[in-house]
Formats: sequence, structure tokens, C-alpha cells
Amino acid sequence: MPTKLYICGMSLDKNPSVIDAFEAIRALRKELASVKDELSSCKSDVSRLNRNNTHLVVENKSLKAEVTRLKAEIEKLGGSKVEKDSTNSSVPPTQQSIAGQAALRTRSLRASSGRPSGGQKGHVGHELARTDNPAKQEDHRVKTCPHCGAVIPEDAEQVCTMTTQVIDIAGILVGPEVTEHRRYTAVCPHCHRKAHAKLPSGSSKKTSYGPKLQALVIYLSVVQSVTFERIAETMRDVFCVKSFSEGTVKNILERNAKKALPVYTALLEYIGREEAAGMDETGVYINKLLCWFWCLQCEKYCYVFADRSRGIKALEDHGILPYLKRLILYTDRHSTYFTLEVSGHQVCLAHLLRNLQYLCDINKEQKWARNVQQVLRDAIHTWNESKCGVPGTEVRRSFEKRIDRLLDQDVGHYGKEFQTLQNGIILCKDYLFTFLDHEGVPHHNNSSEGAIRILKVKTKVSGGFRTQAGADQYACFHSILETAKRNGKSKFGTLYQLMIEDNPDSSFIETITS
Ligand SMILES: [Zn+2]
Repeated sequence: MPTKLYICGMSLDKNPSVIDAFEAIRALRKELASVKDELSSCKSDVSRLNRNNTHLVVENKSLKAEVTRLKAEIEKLGGSKVEKDSTNSSVPPTQQSIAGQAALRTRSLRASSGRPSGGQKGHVGHELARTDNPAKQEDHRVKTCPHCGAVIPEDAEQVCTMTTQVIDIAGILVGPEVTEHRRYTAVCPHCHRKAHAKLPSGSSKKTSYGPKLQALVIYLSVVQSVTFERIAETMRDVFCVKSFSEGTVKNILERNAKKALPVYTALLEYIGREEAAGMDETGVYINKLLCWFWCLQCEKYCYVFADRSRGIKALEDHGILPYLKRLILYTDRHSTYFTLEVSGHQVCLAHLLRNLQYLCDINKEQKWARNVQQVLRDAIHTWNESKCGVPGTEVRRSFEKRIDRLLDQDVGHYGKEFQTLQNGIILCKDYLFTFLDHEGVPHHNNSSEGAIRILKVKTKVSGGFRTQAGADQYACFHSILETAKRNGKSKFGTLYQLMIEDNPDSSFIETITS
């Protein structure tokens, strides 16, 4: 086989037209020129890309700087910052920020369930559904302009601008009744502003529960000490209120305690204006901590509150002290009561008689405790027998003389208990017979004890309160309802009244005490 000759990809033996060498060189030159062109175009491409690259490098650098700056800004705004605290560094808890300390206190030890908090998938939401066929419809037309007070003429054009539904108890086993409230709006002929009609208290834009249902929930919780779980079950079972939850019970108590707060705080002022009041305290667990439910009460009014302290600090923190100054206080012999600035004092004789009875029981031979009992009983008898007013100061002094003689006797030889009680009575000997010359002062503190006895039931049923807020809400309702009871009013009726009231204040106390 002969070797084939190629020039510029053309086979010479197959293409007779390129056998000429000059022709071949020309072709080569042409080829070279095209390669040169291509090279120059590549060079220009490279320098263009280089320029681009330089530009991108500069841009990248500036973007990186921007990212760093923005990250710092996010951190400054508290985005992903992790604070050093006592759990992840040697910073002592007291040197943490206030927010950090609060977070630490409230951080739950319970492991996360991995589910979001609140209602779970499949759980019927909090928002109550509207119904298409409410049992009742009530129209609320504007009568006076809320802006200028002008009367809206009866023939003025009114347009229904909002409807809301209220779900309330209708009866046992019949299911709740839905009332649709239709709010009308008119243009005021006087000030030309839009005047909306007023809706019943408690109804909002959303569907809500009515006053009977809310009053019953609070009644079961506060008056009957029923647990949230059982209240929810009662609402579902007895009143057929579908998907009524413990959370709803909590919300109803929370919302209405807030509403009733002005009534609750006004009670203190009413008690402060009386001549005499009794005080007592009882231990209750709040969030597993022993706390105290305090009670300040008189014939017509009752005020209770919860505090960690059993000392004067509780009374300071709750602003009670100013209301005590004008009062004659009747109490047991708990030392805090004798450090207070009050106008007078009466020690509970029922307590003392019981303490003395114990001494009579442990030593039947001695006469001392029996004699002290006799003086106290005689004083009570004299008080009972006095037909008009109180026996008076002379009578009081005669009893003080009798008790003084007994307190001077040496009882140490009967035993330690005798000495302790005698010393205790000596400390309060000026406060034994105040009731003999002051009207309105009882010789016992039974009414104070009665006002907070229910807390013991509450503790037995539910073991106390889960939160301080829950205890405060209870104190608010209990004070108002106990006041109502003392004035012959029904507790449930009072709650219902409270529910339908728009902004209850101190005048509400007038209503329940008249
Ligand atoms: Zn107007």
C-alpha cells in the first residue's frame, strides 16, 4: 500500500487539485491566520473573564462583610444569643440577668413530648363554632350616641353591622342554647359619627359562653371545690356542652377574676370603715409550697388573700395595714396580730377556753384552769344577759381584777403546760374583755375561722392550688361570695349578677349587701 499524503486534511492522491506546493502553502497560511484569529479571540476572552473574576472576588468580599455585620445585628436583637448562666458557666444564679433568672425558675424539668404545646392534631379548636340556626335572635339597636350622648330617633336608619353568638345552658340533657345577638349601627344626627349599639356584657366578636354557664363553672370550682377535670366532665355530661375542656374552665375563672378585681379590692375599704373585724389564717399548699390563706372579715364583709408569709410581711405586701388602723381586731393568739397598729384588740375566748380545758383534762386535781374558765364564762354570760348595749367599762374592770388574781398565782408546780398558758394569757390580759365595753366586738373568732374553713375542703379534694394566680382568683371570688352569703344573698345568684354586669366596681358591693 502506497503512503497517502495529506495537506490540510485533504488527501493529495484523492484530490488532484492540490498537488501544487504553492497551493498547499497558501492553504497553510490561511489556516495559520485563522488559528491566530482564534487565539487572539481566546486571549481577549481570558482577559474578559479575568476582569469578571476580579469583580466577583471584590463583590464576594463585600457580601461576606455584610453577612458578618447582619449576624452581629441579629445577635444584638437577641435572636440566637445564648446567655451564659449558672447552668452552662460559672456565673452564679444571682448574677444572671433578671430574664435569665425568671427563665431558670420557670424552666420545666419535664422532658418535651415532642409535640407542640396546646391543642393537638384532631383536637377541636378553642374558637367556638357558629351555628346556622340559633335558637334565638336578639336585635340591639342604638338608642343614644356613645360619642355625644344625643338620642338616636326611632325612625333613624339602622344597619346590622355585626352578629355574634352566645352559647348558654338551657337545661339538663337538652344541650346548650345559642342566641344570636345582632348589633345595629346608625349615623348620629347630631355629631354625624357612627354609633354602634351596645351588646350584652361578655359577648365579643367571637362566639362565647353565656352568663349562666360561666357562673356555674365558677360556682362549681370556688363554692363546691370541684376540680377542673370534673367541672369539664359535668359540662359535657350533664349540660351536653360538646368538647368543653379543662382549659375552658381555667379561662373562664381567669377572665372573670380579672373583671371582678375592682369589687374584690373595694371590699377592703368597706371592712376598714367598720368598728371591728376578725382575722385568721390557715395553711394551704400553692404549687407544692406551704402558703397561708389570710382572712379579714366582719359581720357584713369578708376579704381573703393568699401569701407565702405567715408574718406581718404578708399584710404589708397585700396593702392590708392601712385598713386595720381604725379597727378593733379580734383574733387568736398568733403573735403577728399583736404587732399590728390597731385601735383595740380582743382575743378569742373560745380558743382560750379550749386551751384551759386541755389543762383540766390532764390534771383533774387542780382548780386554777377551771377558775380561769369560770371567769371567762361569767364574762360571756354577763355580756349575753345585758339587754341594752354592752355591760360597760366598770363591769370590764371587775373581770380584769378577777383574772389578775388568778394570773398572779404560781402554777409552775402543776407542770410546764400550765406555766406556758399562764404566760400566754398574761401577754394578752388587756385584750380579754374588750367585748364588754365595745359594741360590735364578739368574744370569739368563729366567723373568721368559718370564712376560711372551706380551704381545708379544697385542699382535701385537689391538694391545694397549682399556681399563685389560681389561688388569687379563688381568693377574689371567695371574698365576694362569702360577703354575699353574709348578707343573705345566694352565691350562684351573685355570680350570675357578676357575669351580666359590664364593669362591676364598688357599687356591686352595695347591691349584694343591701
Ligand atoms: Zn353623636
